[in-house]
Amino acid sequence: MTSPADPVAIARDLLRCPSVTPVEGGALTFLETLLKRTGFTVHRMTFSEPGTADVENLYARIGASAPHLMFAGHTDVVPPGDAKAWSHAPFSADIADGVLYGRGAVDMKGAIACKLAATLDHLAANGGKPKGSISFLITGDEEGVAVNGSPKLLKWAAARGEMFDHCVLGEPGNVSKLGDTIKLGRRGSQNGVLVVTGKMGHVAYPHRADNPVRGLVKLMSALMDEPLDAGSAKFDPSNLEFTSIDIGNPTVNLIPGEARARFNIRFNDCHDYASLKALVEQRAAKAAGNKVKWKIDWEPSNADVFYTEPSPFTEVVVGAVAEVTGRKPKLSTSGGTSDARFIKDYCPVVEFGLIGTTMHATDERVPVKDLQTLTEVYRKILDNYFR
Ligand SMILES: [Zn+2]
Repeated sequence: MTSPADPVAIARDLLRCPSVTPVEGGALTFLETLLKRTGFTVHRMTFSEPGTADVENLYARIGASAPHLMFAGHTDVVPPGDAKAWSHAPFSADIADGVLYGRGAVDMKGAIACKLAATLDHLAANGGKPKGSISFLITGDEEGVAVNGSPKLLKWAAARGEMFDHCVLGEPGNVSKLGDTIKLGRRGSQNGVLVVTGKMGHVAYPHRADNPVRGLVKLMSALMDEPLDAGSAKFDPSNLEFTSIDIGNPTVNLIPGEARARFNIRFNDCHDYASLKALVEQRAAKAAGNKVKWKIDWEPSNADVFYTEPSPFTEVVVGAVAEVTGRKPKLSTSGGTSDARFIKDYCPVVEFGLIGTTMHATDERVPVKDLQTLTEVYRKILDNYFR
């Protein structure tokens, strides 16, 4: 093994697997073969839960001692949408003008390919064994409900005595240039439904009815008017966004009996679940007075806010990025949630992957050069971590 491993070839093989959540699509089998050949011990785990689809996952480790660096990621992808709208078929892994096309190119089969290529090179340069342990924790349930993926996989690993020291998750968090951003935390996410109850009746006789639409609009505007906070030292402001108003009334001359509005809150470290819900309910109650009959149905959430304090490990990642790309990455907590929210309960986690511009979009794609550069960054992380 003298020639460097090719992240582009690995990425193309992965992209040809149609692994739309919750389907495995051959992606984990491909990784299993490659990892086994490299000397990893590989476990394939299928997790189930009533009401959700079974999902396959993979855990692979090489080495038995500390320090233990975990590479985390997901091989599942979101659906491609209208395949005809793509300039290259979404699972063809075509390369045109130095750009690799395919669903999952940046989110995040590309980064998994880079981690794998970097690991193969690092091992080849070190007699086939790390000075510690390297593992791959790969889920097939990141883009879905995330029930039968990372949470169960991490629990399973902990139960068999796996101890992780640090994790690099490969989500595509760079904004416009490879190396501009490292993610150290994420805001939390909480869904809710605002329900206002009135009294059904004929529109021509409103005095005999009580239209819940009035109360709903009043409460909605109260909740939208006032910001939840002004942001914190590490996070952007929290935000409440209504996503749907649901009355479902097909009749033109009927005042409905109930009106609902769905919303999502992205919240920062000024709040925890309980204080956030209390704040929203307090504001709704104030707007409602004793006129509007209302309640909020809160959905269960597994997306709490978290922050990974900078450490020598962060320095290893920042240093590798700077050395390879010449950029000093911004330490960020922006954007949506990721599986880092589960991993952080087991070890410090830093997120660094490709550029996110085309994630989940038609014509998701990655410049071949970015795959090569990211592989160099991961290789540098490995070399410096196991020095
Ligand atoms: Zn992702």
